[in-house]
Amino acid sequence: MSSKVSMEKIVSLCKRRGFVFPSSEIYGGLASCWDYGPMGVELKRNIKDAWWRTVVQEREDVVGLETSIMMHPKVWEASGHVASFTDPLVECKSCHLRWRATEVDSNKCPKCGGELTEPRMFNLMFKTLMGPVEDEAGTIYLRPETAQGMFVNFENAVTISRKKLPLGSAQIGKSFRNEITPGNFIFRTREFEHMELEYFVKPDTAKYWFDYWVRERFNWYVTLGIDKENLRLRQHGKEELAHYAEDCYDIEYSFPMGWSELEGIANRGDYDLTQHAECSGRDLSYYDNESGQRYIPYIIEPSAGVERSFLAFLIDAYQEETVEGETRVVLRLCPSLAPIKVAVLPLSRNEKLTPLAREIHKQLRPNFMTWYDDSQSIGRRYRRQDEVGTPFCVTIDFQSLEDRQVTIRDRDSLAQIRVPIGELEKTLRTKLSGEPFDVSSLWATRQK
Ligand code: ATP
Repeated sequence: MSSKVSMEKIVSLCKRRGFVFPSSEIYGGLASCWDYGPMGVELKRNIKDAWWRTVVQEREDVVGLETSIMMHPKVWEASGHVASFTDPLVECKSCHLRWRATEVDSNKCPKCGGELTEPRMFNLMFKTLMGPVEDEAGTIYLRPETAQGMFVNFENAVTISRKKLPLGSAQIGKSFRNEITPGNFIFRTREFEHMELEYFVKPDTAKYWFDYWVRERFNWYVTLGIDKENLRLRQHGKEELAHYAEDCYDIEYSFPMGWSELEGIANRGDYDLTQHAECSGRDLSYYDNESGQRYIPYIIEPSAGVERSFLAFLIDAYQEETVEGETRVVLRLCPSLAPIKVAVLPLSRNEKLTPLAREIHKQLRPNFMTWYDDSQSIGRRYRRQDEVGTPFCVTIDFQSLEDRQVTIRDRDSLAQIRVPIGELEKTLRTKLSGEPFDVSSLWATRQK
C-alpha cells in the first residue's frame, strides 16, 4: 500500500492550488460532485490528450467517435443494464444510511451499529424524462458508460473508415452512475469521464489482442511517469467476471486507501454485437475478405476513468522534500501532463522589469500553457509553481535588461541556466520534450 501521501494532503493541495473544488460550495456542496479549477482543467485535458494521442492519433487501426449521452432506451435493455447493472444495497433500520452490501462485513451499520436490511438490488442508472410529457414512455437513461454508443455505431465505423478488422472505436465522454457509496474524493463519483476503446477483432485472435491491450494500457501509465511499483495487474476470478466476459484484468494503483481499480480491460466476446443485432434486427456480422468468413467480432475493451487517472497521477507525483532547511511540496508530474509548462516571473514588480517580462510572456503564450506571477517574493512564487508541477520557471532580473538573457529554473533539480531571450522558446521546447537539464551546457552560469 502506498503511504507516501495521505488523501487529506491531496484534497487540501487540490483546493489550495485550484485543481478541484467541491461543487456548489456556496450552497454547502453536493455529495460526491466536484468542480475542476484552472489547474485541474488543464491536467484533465492533458490526460485526455495523452490517451487520445496513444490510442487514436498514433495508430492506424483506431478511429474516434463522440456519441450521445442520451440513447434509445432499448440500447440499455439489449446491453443488459436495465436488468442487471445493479449493486446489492442494504439500509440501516435506525439511521437509514445505505451501503453497498459488499462494503459491510456484518449486518451492523458501520456508522451507528444499527441493524441492516436484507440486500436488495439497486439499479445504478440515472433515469430522466425526455420531452414535455411526464409519463413512463418518455423515460430515458443517462449513459453509465460510453461503450454502447460505439457498439451501436460498429457498422458506421467500419464503413466510414474503409478499414478492415482489427479495428477500434475510441471515445472520451461523461458517464453517470448512481453509486450507492461514492467517495474517496474523486475516486468514485456519480458523474465522471470515461476513456474507452472498443477494439473489434476476429474471434480466434481475441486472446492475442486481449494480452496486447493489457500490456499497452499498463505501459501507458508507466510512460506517463507512474512508478511501476505502485501499479499491478489483477485478473478477475470466475465469480467476479460479468456473465458474458471471457476474461478481465484490472490495472490497480496503490491509492492511499489501498490497491484499487484504475482501469479495466475486458474480453467481452461477441456478447455486445450479438445482443444489439438481435434486439435491433440489424445484421451486425462482419465479412472478412481475408479468411472468407462471416462472423460476429469479439470485443476487447480497455476502459479507464479520467478522474481516477488524475488522482493516481497526482498522488504519484506528490513529494515533500527539504530544501535549504524548508519543506517544499513538489509535483513531479510528467511535463506533458503538467497544467502549466512555463511560469514567467519578473524578479520583482518593478516598473523597469515589467515591460520586458510582459513581452516575454506574450512571446511564450502561443507556444506553451504559461502563468505570469509577480506577487510576493520570488521564493514563494517558485514554491507555488512547484506545488502545481510547473516544469520550468523563467525569471527576468535587472541584468536581463542589459544582456537580454533570462534564467530558466528546473522544477526537479532546482538547477538554473541562463539563456538569451531569442533562444528561450527553442530551449524550453527541447527541455519539455525530455532533453536533460544540464547545467554544464551552453549558457549555464549558476546552480542552486
Ligand atoms: P468499480 O468496480 O470501481 O465500480 P467498475 O469495474 O464498475 O468500477 P468499469 O465499468 O470497468 O468500472 O469502468 C471502467 C473505469 O471507469 C474504472 O476503472 C474507473 O476508472 C472508471 N469508473 C467507473 N466507475 C466510476 C465512478 N463511479 N467514478 C469514477 N470513475 C469511475
